Amino acid sequence: MGNDNEGRWTAVNDRDGAEQSGGGWFQLRRWLRRGEWAHAYLFVGPETGDQDQAAEYLASGILCEDRANPPCGSCPSCRRLAHGNHPGLVQVYPDGQSIKIDQLRELQRFFSLRAIERENRVYIIHGADRMTPEAANSLLKFLEEPAPGTVGILTAKRLEGVLATVRSRCQVLRFSAPRPEVLYREWTSRGVGEEMARLFAYLGLSDSGSGEDADKEADGENPLDIAVFADIAGWVVEWVQAVEEHKGKPLLELFSRVGRGQWSAPECLWLLDVLACWYRDVLYTSLGLSDQVVFIDHRRELSSQAARHGSIAPLVERMGEVIDAKRRLQAHANPQLTLERMVLRLQEE
Ligand SMILES: [Zn+2]
Repeated sequence: MGNDNEGRWTAVNDRDGAEQSGGGWFQLRRWLRRGEWAHAYLFVGPETGDQDQAAEYLASGILCEDRANPPCGSCPSCRRLAHGNHPGLVQVYPDGQSIKIDQLRELQRFFSLRAIERENRVYIIHGADRMTPEAANSLLKFLEEPAPGTVGILTAKRLEGVLATVRSRCQVLRFSAPRPEVLYREWTSRGVGEEMARLFAYLGLSDSGSGEDADKEADGENPLDIAVFADIAGWVVEWVQAVEEHKGKPLLELFSRVGRGQWSAPECLWLLDVLACWYRDVLYTSLGLSDQVVFIDHRRELSSQAARHGSIAPLVERMGEVIDAKRRLQAHANPQLTLERMVLRLQEE
């Protein structure tokens, strides 16, 4: 995802879009319009934050040839960026669990070789809180004596994970997690159906492109695959009816999916996220808040489950069971035992 650069930054370039997406974006927009930027930035934000996208946005804007509306998305520079082959941008990602000194040496060598040219150049270090101490130290001098026209952008999830001496040489900008309504608009604009977009937004999932995906792979998580997620969500909605109505053999059905390795460990966690969201919706329906449910295409099923339980206590308990199972799986408990225990408890009257 992300080769549609033409439209990629439209919402941010539009003044309202920038404001809706948070103050950090608005600040970037202002710097780019004025053509003013520092030598080094550190963008910090949570897991679902916009820091990596923002870094790419700033880099695109600095390198863009249209100084009236950077990044314009259509000049030769923007086009090269969209195809991932702009010679003026170098991106560094964690190699496994960390960013190693060799990666930064290579980066510095690249910039010293090309110092003669006058064009702007940008490097992005994604996950700067995962630099080894040696790597961070090797970056210090580079930050202190930047080559002319060179801008460095570091991104991190934890500010305190970045060496204080590196931090102090960067202009720090904080990004918060995007609000659900922003995520919802993002997903629907990408052609995702309304119910699924509500689910993604509720779970704080954003389509943040290659940067975060690489990061997640290093964390042992899968990048979000819309088709797989939609498959899991659709399956859970069917399956939970069987659980609630004591029909069929829900435990066997679950193991036929999970046990045979059709779904990976992170996908099992998604399954539990979807399930917890389902029980939340039944609870909301029970409280008369059905206008706030996520599963808007399944209001009839939600109502019938709410009616069957009669009170909210068993629903709160069920949500608790699902959240507890997720916590256990994250702590590497045996998946089969954990899921078995959860299903049995979900079926208790
Ligand atoms: Zn451009």
